[in-house]
Amino acid sequence: MRLLFAEDDAALAATVARGLRENAYAVDVATDGDAAVMQVALNDYDALVLDVGLPKRDGFSVCREVRARGLTVPILMLTARDAVSDRVAGLDAGADDYLTKPFAFPELLARLRALRRRVRSIVHEEVRAGDLTVDTGRQTVRWRGVLIPVTTKEYALLEFLARNANIVMSRADISAHVWDDNHDPASNALEVAINRLRRKLETATGGMPLVHTRRGAGYVLSVEDDAARK
Ligand code: CA
Repeated sequence: MRLLFAEDDAALAATVARGLRENAYAVDVATDGDAAVMQVALNDYDALVLDVGLPKRDGFSVCREVRARGLTVPILMLTARDAVSDRVAGLDAGADDYLTKPFAFPELLARLRALRRRVRSIVHEEVRAGDLTVDTGRQTVRWRGVLIPVTTKEYALLEFLARNANIVMSRADISAHVWDDNHDPASNALEVAINRLRRKLETATGGMPLVHTRRGAGYVLSVEDDAARK
């Protein structure tokens, strides 16, 4: 999951971005409203977190601009404590939810999970791909109920592939949702992470390959449904 965090307070932005990365999000930071609009035009984000008080153009204006471009990306606004007018203005501008500052980090994580559930109409926080279960709340992965130990990055990669099971995802698709702007597209970080993940999955499944390479196209997590296996 890749998100844009628009916040001009550099210390707060750095702290929150670090926390989000530790929770398997790829995070880009915009420090003013113009930069936020530009980033949204360039990248395919899974969610936006917009501070209301931003230089150049405020969070409401960014939000209106994003909606005016027809984008349905979930948007969480960060508003001043108890400023009812801010919350109303944010929702009117097209935001999906708001969080008042200062906020507790776990609440930000919970709001982001809730936003994604709402947008994707997922009733609970599990993504199932065949015998693989991804728990997006706990960020754990199980094969037939047995926990597979994965790093944060491997988890993010696997969650993305599992959400798109049986669909070939290009390197660009994967990079766009699992890595942020600090990722060098020319590096082989993606291949390295895929190979590590593949080995862990094969250990867990007793050698059954789940992640396949489609030469020149990308990668696919292939799973059969229960009916097909019988
Ligand atoms: Ca601010």
